[in-house]
Amino acid sequence: MIAEVIVDITNDQVDKVFDYIARPDTIVGERVTVPFGKRFIEGYVLRHKEKSQLPDNLLKPLGQPKDDYPVLLPEFLALNEEMRELFHLRNVDCMRLFIPTQLRSGKAKPLYVNFIELTEKFDDRELLENTRKNATKQIDLIKTLRPDNLYARTDLNKRFGSANVNKLLDLGVIRQVTTTKLRAPKVNAKQDKKVTLTAEQEKVVNAILAKREGEHLLFGVTGSGKTEVYMHIISKVLGEGKTAILLVPEISLTPQVLSTFTARFGDNVAILHSGLSDGERFDEWQRLRTGQAKIAIGARSAIFAPLTNLGAIILDEEHDPSYKAESNPRFITHDVARLRGKFNKCPVIFGSATPSLESFHRAKQGKTELHLLPNRANAKPMPNIEIVNMCDEVRMGNSGIFSGRLLDELENVVREKNQAMLFINRRGFSSYMICRECGYVAKCEDCDVSLVYHKEDNQLKCHYCNRRYKALTNCPSCGSSYIRMGAMGTQKVVEELQERFPNVKILRMDFDTTKNKNSLNELLETFGNTKPCILVGTQMIAKGHDFPSVTLVGIMNADMSLHFSDFRSTERTYQLITQVAGRAGRAEKEGKVILQTYTPKHYAYRFASNYDYLGFYGKEINLREVANFPPFSKIVRVLITAENKDEARATTSRIYSKIQDYFKQNREQFLYCEAMASPVSRIEKKYRFQILCRFLLDTEPEITNFIYKTVTEDKHPKSLVFVEINPSNMS
Ligand code: ADP
Ligand code: ZN
Ligand code: ZN
Repeated sequence: MIAEVIVDITNDQVDKVFDYIARPDTIVGERVTVPFGKRFIEGYVLRHKEKSQLPDNLLKPLGQPKDDYPVLLPEFLALNEEMRELFHLRNVDCMRLFIPTQLRSGKAKPLYVNFIELTEKFDDRELLENTRKNATKQIDLIKTLRPDNLYARTDLNKRFGSANVNKLLDLGVIRQVTTTKLRAPKVNAKQDKKVTLTAEQEKVVNAILAKREGEHLLFGVTGSGKTEVYMHIISKVLGEGKTAILLVPEISLTPQVLSTFTARFGDNVAILHSGLSDGERFDEWQRLRTGQAKIAIGARSAIFAPLTNLGAIILDEEHDPSYKAESNPRFITHDVARLRGKFNKCPVIFGSATPSLESFHRAKQGKTELHLLPNRANAKPMPNIEIVNMCDEVRMGNSGIFSGRLLDELENVVREKNQAMLFINRRGFSSYMICRECGYVAKCEDCDVSLVYHKEDNQLKCHYCNRRYKALTNCPSCGSSYIRMGAMGTQKVVEELQERFPNVKILRMDFDTTKNKNSLNELLETFGNTKPCILVGTQMIAKGHDFPSVTLVGIMNADMSLHFSDFRSTERTYQLITQVAGRAGRAEKEGKVILQTYTPKHYAYRFASNYDYLGFYGKEINLREVANFPPFSKIVRVLITAENKDEARATTSRIYSKIQDYFKQNREQFLYCEAMASPVSRIEKKYRFQILCRFLLDTEPEITNFIYKTVTEDKHPKSLVFVEINPSNMS
């Protein structure tokens, strides 16, 4: 018998499966040691087969398995094939997604702990007499121990000396018991809130459970109690002996979800996310793989939780960009969820207050079943969103960052000892140019996306076609020279606030202040306990937080994401505003939102302030269709990077010329196909080039497959080449 093995090698662009002579007891999916050249390395048994193409004398025998059970579930062997096809991943890429680094590298090992307990011999008088003669320490030790109790060996060593412990072990008075200790991540468990479902929630739960298989989109306004719906569904499938996965974007930012779930499901919950220590992650994975835990909660990578017999897969806040892995290995979590849903014949539930256009479009096409939660669980109205025109403020002589209205409302919050959140909309490092007199923003004449200002060459660039424009000195629309870069930092806002409100606690939540997991928890805890208090933060504050005393949300510069060079920028803006507005007025006290903008008439704001998702969707999907943007077309970017510029350029032209041939024969399918230097032409010493294609969906997936194939067949040992589908970062 021959075993086909994927070997775990890093620096290898070839996607090869190697043949080994199988052991009689080889199991598909097991992790093994294999001889490879002069070394021994780790591999995974992918398949069995009768014969190898290689002559017998070149075949080496498979080594021993490294674990007590095959680490790869049968489902993952199937998923491997499907993901290779869908995302064009190599076998080794898939293995790295399926199996945590901690296990692969041997970096984390189970934690063994030795315990001591009394044996039956303890009652033996003669033995005790003997002992007593020469050692008071040993007698003390025995006196300390109670029958049927376990004592940590390390503690006893410390108190009585390991020689004495050993002596008693030799006498057989005590014995040692070794167990593995699970390193559980710390969760601030709270009391489980027993709630009765509202009629709306119950309808959704029943509809999903009645149907079971297939895709569901749960479109529920912020505060509508989607979490409670998820918990009821999970509780039901658990009762049937099944398991569940719940994905949330950036779980470390929302410890509340964890405590809510742990309060209800206790030890059944395992958490998978990057904030855990190696040991914790390793143990949580083992608990899932061995069936000790039945619910996996985590960010994107938890979609690969090693659970069998899944009864539900849930993606909360499904619109969140983090569900798309945009660096290697690239994959789309929604698609993986669909594959696992099919394999397990279980429902896949996408939940959001602001579904992505793609997901809602699928629902409209009937590919996903749509469920609605149009009201808040507490039956309170949605907070009122007031739009403030910052151009008017400038005209009235207020050139500061706070509008008069926002300051008034902040004063109310402070006086009434409530809480406020101020949201600074920031994305990446790029920035656009805006006229502060009239709100004009420079856009590409060809693509209708905002231009990105590049400081290094003082130019404006379009990231979709690479057209370049001179940086503005005067506004082309009103002539004003009051042109500014549209970017603002959290730090500056905090400083100005502190000056205006010297006695109020002001907290900052952004990438810098939350680098370690404790500082984030402390920050959220402080905010929870302090009144009045103002929390200033980036996108992080928009995510799922549930603080009952927040009565005011201020959106400092709503336009920031609107003018990001991205075909999804309007959609993202709508989502962000709705999500952060949703943090206000979640309990008894009514909430209010002040939205500051230089373009108050923009339809994203009009629809968002009326909570009119359907209106927004209708307008935006129409624009996408007219402009031929996804979901009506596909954008493929082939990104080529190399340390040597000529090398990168040569690889680019080689691949481009093949794609160009294809393009010439299928011209009517393509909307665009060009090769160029990337907008950011050099990152980390690597030159960057790209081939950009946009095409209609009629001949999908042939064009994509052709591009993948072309890239794979090209030999480019000194360049790295990536294929990106509908990328949201085009820098
Ligand atoms: P969403 O995720 O939809 O924004 P949450 O699940 O966070 O909303 O729920 C918002 C608030 O409503 C939470 O405090 C939650 O405990 C509460 N809640 C949810 N369902 C009910 C219910 N049926 N009865 C009472 N309170 C509920
Ligand atoms: Zn102007
Ligand atoms: Zn353009």
